[in-house]
Amino acid sequence: MATPPADAAERWAIAPIVSYETHQLPPIDLAELQAALTTATEVGSTTIDPRSASCFEVEQGSFFRIVNVEGHQVGDLNLWNRDDLGERFYSGKTRQLHASHVSTGDHLWTSIPHLNPLCTIVEDSLDWYGIDEYGGSVHDVIGTRCDPYTNFRLRGENYHQCCHSNLSRALADHCQVPLAEAELHVHDVMNVFMCTGFTLDTHQYFMKATPARAGDHITFYAHKPLLGALSACPGGNCGSTHSDDETPCYPLRVDVLTPAEPVAIDYDERLTSAYDGTHGR
Ligand SMILES: [Zn+2]
Repeated sequence: MATPPADAAERWAIAPIVSYETHQLPPIDLAELQAALTTATEVGSTTIDPRSASCFEVEQGSFFRIVNVEGHQVGDLNLWNRDDLGERFYSGKTRQLHASHVSTGDHLWTSIPHLNPLCTIVEDSLDWYGIDEYGGSVHDVIGTRCDPYTNFRLRGENYHQCCHSNLSRALADHCQVPLAEAELHVHDVMNVFMCTGFTLDTHQYFMKATPARAGDHITFYAHKPLLGALSACPGGNCGSTHSDDETPCYPLRVDVLTPAEPVAIDYDERLTSAYDGTHGR
């Protein structure tokens, strides 16, 4: 290890600043969306069996709610613009714009060159959890998704019910495309209900048992027509192991709800136009 320089203490003491000032983002009226949710009725429901994934569709202007049916279960969520699978959830930019864990009022943003708000979280029954003494929090946009490639590197075993594989099979079946084609659309997830953080001493990614219990839920408003895929992670509550068949695992459910009247969102011009894409040329 290199010897710290004479002014190391001075350098360590520089105060951090938040990189992105979210108050500069185009405003979306959360109260208006929440009011619309109170008028919404269920128009569809999909149950996701343990260690599997299912797709669901949501019309623009509707809501979807992920419900922890029995509790103790983490879900890996992928989202696309249903009309263009090239526009999909971008966990990295969502993390930078909001936080490592998302909750009520945060948006899920889409991939470049789009960078649109795909949906907004309008309610979260776990928003009381905050940040615990380990630095852990719920609904992670840090982790990628459990996958058979990493599992093989770590254990030298083939395991086929990782979220990456579950999401790939679900998308292939839903879109009626070959598995290899579907796999290329699977992307870094929102880890719904998952409690994670970085260890305070080594900054290693950690997970701990989710605080989600039966009935806990999180609800999103769809700014675009959505295709979603949700995997009930083989890690179950993600408090012990994952990528195996031994960990207790439970179902999840996705309910789709439509408001009585469409929400008349007055989108800021920065959400209806975009960067010109010329990159200085
Ligand atoms: Zn998983």
